[in-house]
Amino acid sequence: MKYLSTRNRDIRVPAAKTIARGLSPDGGLYVPEVLPTLPDGALKSLCGMNYTQRAVYVMSMFLDDFTASELTRYTSKAYSAAGFDTPDVAPVRSVDGSTHFLELWHGPTCAFKDMALQMLPYLLTASLKKTGEDKSVCILVATSGDTGKAALEGFADIEGTKILVFYPHNGVSDIQKLQMTSQSGSNVGVCAVKGNFDDAQTGVKSIFSDKALEEQLAQRGWLLSSANSINWGRLLPQIVYYISAYCDLVNSHNIKMGEKVNFCVPTGNFGDILAGYYAMKMGVPVNKLICASNKNDVLTDFINTGTYDKNRKFFTTISPSMDILVSSNLERLLFDISGFNDMLIREYMYELSSEGKYTVSDDIRNRIASVFSAGYCDDDETKDVINRTFSEKNYLIDTHTAVAYGVLEKYRRSTEDNTVSVVISTASPYKFCDSVLSALGDDVEERGLALIDLLEKRTGVPAPMPLKNLNKKVVRFTDSVEKSQLTEKVLNFLK
Ligand SMILES: *Cc1c(COP(=O)(O)O)cnc(C)c1O
Repeated sequence: MKYLSTRNRDIRVPAAKTIARGLSPDGGLYVPEVLPTLPDGALKSLCGMNYTQRAVYVMSMFLDDFTASELTRYTSKAYSAAGFDTPDVAPVRSVDGSTHFLELWHGPTCAFKDMALQMLPYLLTASLKKTGEDKSVCILVATSGDTGKAALEGFADIEGTKILVFYPHNGVSDIQKLQMTSQSGSNVGVCAVKGNFDDAQTGVKSIFSDKALEEQLAQRGWLLSSANSINWGRLLPQIVYYISAYCDLVNSHNIKMGEKVNFCVPTGNFGDILAGYYAMKMGVPVNKLICASNKNDVLTDFINTGTYDKNRKFFTTISPSMDILVSSNLERLLFDISGFNDMLIREYMYELSSEGKYTVSDDIRNRIASVFSAGYCDDDETKDVINRTFSEKNYLIDTHTAVAYGVLEKYRRSTEDNTVSVVISTASPYKFCDSVLSALGDDVEERGLALIDLLEKRTGVPAPMPLKNLNKKVVRFTDSVEKSQLTEKVLNFLK
């Protein structure tokens, strides 16, 4: 199986090269040339497997340059008991007969990015070997919080790699900062940037396009790479949990084999929900994929009108991982829905970069509407959902998950569609203690780690160990640099 660029179908490369490169040289994203489908009876056999086995089965269908035994080795390490606090890895929690939460936050950093970033280091290092690359790889990340920590946990002590994370010095929460600055591992680095997230991101982007630096680092045996969500190696592991959730619902007799379900997904960069779309195309019975946004509702407007317009006010919300105006992975959906029309995608993406907007054809818009529904929740609605879900269902959810559940409720009211629905739960409520406590009506003065204890006392829900244990951690990284000094920092890190 080969992979194509969404902007040029004539670019055809094997999976290992796709993962090693991340982005296609023409700026497009790699997609499989044919989406594999689950053969007859496959879903039934998947029902009898555990999560790791399901992951090997599904990923093998896409990675024919990897052997099953390689993938077994990687998935057993990625989803082991050392990192995940439940052998189910991605358990489904039911709150009533037709509403189920797929909990994707049982990994080491308590957010769903672990599902992919625990796996990516193995796929990436193996891909570099397979493509004959003899340099070691250094991952550079600019983070607003969640991705940096998940990437650090994924790459810590992985042979042949180093990882350096930059975060804005006043732009992450106390808990997120401590999670990163106390990171263990002999190959990791963390550094504050005196500026905001955009400064950090712009700095890292300019390092990636610095040819002289690339050369200099190559002579030292280093290759720079990124861990962001346009890499196929991050998307693929996410397809697995949609299939796994379907099997779990069959096994628990909440649905019959073949019965359709809805998935409602809190969306930022469109990676998570796109994985759901691929799972559907592979054969998982899906009625609707519901795309949930916060007040940054650019995707809601796009799905409802056919116009993607990023020229709008940017809001900072209590679901920060969804505060995004350009959802990169949407390009992959458009490529698929348009019947692999690379010329059209080039046009849309050109308009997006020159005008900040594009409008898809009526045909494409209708096709999207036949699969996707969309809605959004603002911060007040989100808090109300957290409050009601806890008091009525005795289930504590985080702000991102609450956006999705709120949008599902609105969808049900407006459509009267009673299909069994799965809400994708993307973070532990303990990652966003301040907003969750305030949603429960507790306005507190404490900050940082003290909030974890307060939320535990308030709800009786145990906090995940990696967060509870943060108070025992020692800060290892205290460096901060001016935004003009990122290159220097990288050169020192790779001495
Ligand atoms: C990244 C993230 C999202 C958004 O996922 P996308 O794949 O970017 O759409 C939602 N919730 C949480 C907690 C996240 O960290």
